[in-house]
Amino acid sequence: MSPNAPETAAQRLADIKTRMDRAAGRLEGGARANLVAVSKTFDASAIAPVIEAGQRHFGENRVQEAQGKWPALKSAYRDIVLHLIGPLQTNKAGDAVGLFDVIESVDRDKLARVLSGEMEKQNRHLPCFVQVNIGGEAQKAGVAVSETVAFVARCRDQYGLDIVGLMCIPPVEDAPGPYFAQLARLAREAGVSQLSMGMSSDFETAILMGATQVRVGSALFGAR
Ligand SMILES: *Cc1c(COP(=O)(O)O)cnc(C)c1O
Repeated sequence: MSPNAPETAAQRLADIKTRMDRAAGRLEGGARANLVAVSKTFDASAIAPVIEAGQRHFGENRVQEAQGKWPALKSAYRDIVLHLIGPLQTNKAGDAVGLFDVIESVDRDKLARVLSGEMEKQNRHLPCFVQVNIGGEAQKAGVAVSETVAFVARCRDQYGLDIVGLMCIPPVEDAPGPYFAQLARLAREAGVSQLSMGMSSDFETAILMGATQVRVGSALFGAR
């Protein structure tokens, strides 16, 4: 954060929304993208003020960490929407379906199949995003660009998942704009409408490229 960053959670939240609106204003008829507040590594005492300031969508990248803080927060504030934005092991899929409300990291057949079974079992049919490895990075999760359209189709037709959009994390060392544009093209090809892209350092660029949802952590909660 800059030295003169606003001090309270409410001020930081308002500041991010203003920046989102400004970015959207440069798009013809742009609606405000959904803000997912990424609270990983922060505990309930840091999260509660952000909820009190009106924020409802939150993102966590680890199932176990989320289980430690969100059940209590979710029963205190009934309308929270919790997004899983990190890699999911199949042996945690049941826990994830029980706690989260949106799964953004569907990236392989085995996971899609297990998630589908768990959703059936728990009767919780959650909206999902397919995560795309948009930069083709060896160390990153996500389905390959060339396999995305077919994978989305299998998730829907074979596994019965409610795939609402695509999610990506571009390579840190590159300018993100072209990757965001490519994800938008892929989403059109795959026939999904939502685009979860853009983080603290690049959410305005993502909105310009058509993000319907941005995932902002450090700009809201501070450095991790
Ligand atoms: C941590 C994380 C974010 C938020 O990153 P910031 O740079 O802190 O805004 C967004 N998306 C994913 C998948 C993350 O793991």
